[in-house]
Amino acid sequence: MIGKACIGCGFCCRKGPCSYGGFDPVTYCKHLFWDGERWRCHLIAMSPPHAKVLSAGEGCCCGFNTYQRENRVPTPEEVEADRKADTTFHELPLRFRR
Ligand code: SF4
Ligand code: SF4
Repeated sequence: MIGKACIGCGFCCRKGPCSYGGFDPVTYCKHLFWDGERWRCHLIAMSPPHAKVLSAGEGCCCGFNTYQRENRVPTPEEVEADRKADTTFHELPLRFRR
């Protein structure tokens, strides 16, 4: 495992979506969803082999991630509040939408 164990905060997918990602104005990646307890990838849920390709579950190296440091998973409401406060979000569609 690399770094700390993944807690499913979804930070990595919101800030640096993988090559399978597709832009979503609310969750940032259209495959990212809230299961009531943590954030999950729909692609991996539907096709577990994607977990290997995406290194999902192999640890977290997002040391600058506040949620990981606090061992706390943000709710959709918190993500929405973050999105509204995040000035970099408005640049995301240009880098990410396809
Ligand atoms: S804990 Fe790390 S690897 Fe897991 S979802 Fe959050 S940022 Fe991504
Ligand atoms: S496709 Fe899955 S692993 Fe990739 S950014 Fe989206 S939710 Fe995350």
